[in-house]
Amino acid sequence: MILSNKIQWPNGARCACAITFDVDADSLIHISRPTDGFDRLSPISMGRYGPTVGVPRIVETYRRLGLKQTFFMPAWVMEQYPQAVDTILQGGHEIAHHSYLHEDPSAQSDAEQEYWFDKATDVHVAMTGQKPRGYRAPVYNVTQKVIDRLIARGFLYESSLMADDNPYVMRTDAGELIEMPVHWGNDDWPPFAHYAEIGYLMPVRAPSDGLRAFFEEFDAAYEAGGFWMPVLHPFLTGRLARWMQMEKWLEQVRTRDDVWFAPLEDIARHVQAEHRAGRGVRVENLPYYQRPVHLGR
Ligand SMILES: [Zn+2]
Repeated sequence: MILSNKIQWPNGARCACAITFDVDADSLIHISRPTDGFDRLSPISMGRYGPTVGVPRIVETYRRLGLKQTFFMPAWVMEQYPQAVDTILQGGHEIAHHSYLHEDPSAQSDAEQEYWFDKATDVHVAMTGQKPRGYRAPVYNVTQKVIDRLIARGFLYESSLMADDNPYVMRTDAGELIEMPVHWGNDDWPPFAHYAEIGYLMPVRAPSDGLRAFFEEFDAAYEAGGFWMPVLHPFLTGRLARWMQMEKWLEQVRTRDDVWFAPLEDIARHVQAEHRAGRGVRVENLPYYQRPVHLGR
């Protein structure tokens, strides 16, 4: 199987893996139901499970298996659940930018987006002691303005877009950003989320069925020498039965010595170094379009 955008991984590793968790908690109900979300205790409790029950469980598994990974957190969630931030940082993991209150950048004016983006960054600096190096947009809704802002703010990577299997470079007139690509086949919302209050009604899959899809994605990345990055949520895949299976699978994969698990930051730095050394990392030039595409004159 051919990967056109082949990347050499360090130390002879066959593939690079980052298990990413988006710790959205109950930000979703407050942003989607701004007037009465505060009093909808069922979705609030479903979200709270993430930082209070899911995160300690996940971080303990990582500790036992010697893994360092990446958590994306809306800054409001960091403020509401400082204990979860401490648990993640004490485990040596990366915390990356995921908006302030899970607001959708494509639904905001540029000025609004800038205000909440920078406010969220300030929370990261205050609570983690450093600026975030990476960003993932709520619902993957990146706009060109967001890319421009990430480059202007000196971010290393973005992780919401889907133009390749392997990480790639996004280049604008202002600079470059490494894209750590997502896609829906590696996202736990379709198999595991059921959220009536925001109109997301899906049949919930058995843990083995939902996770099998991700493991098959891993198998392909391993065989092709690529990159595997599930996009998970502690209130979904951190639930008991799902995480128990995930943990057993991780235990088995950790016995292989040619799988490179690392925080996204480390993988992105490696990709950036390969790119700068001229070793053929694929480049996408942005913006894709300067004006609307339609049939009119
Ligand atoms: Zn999210």
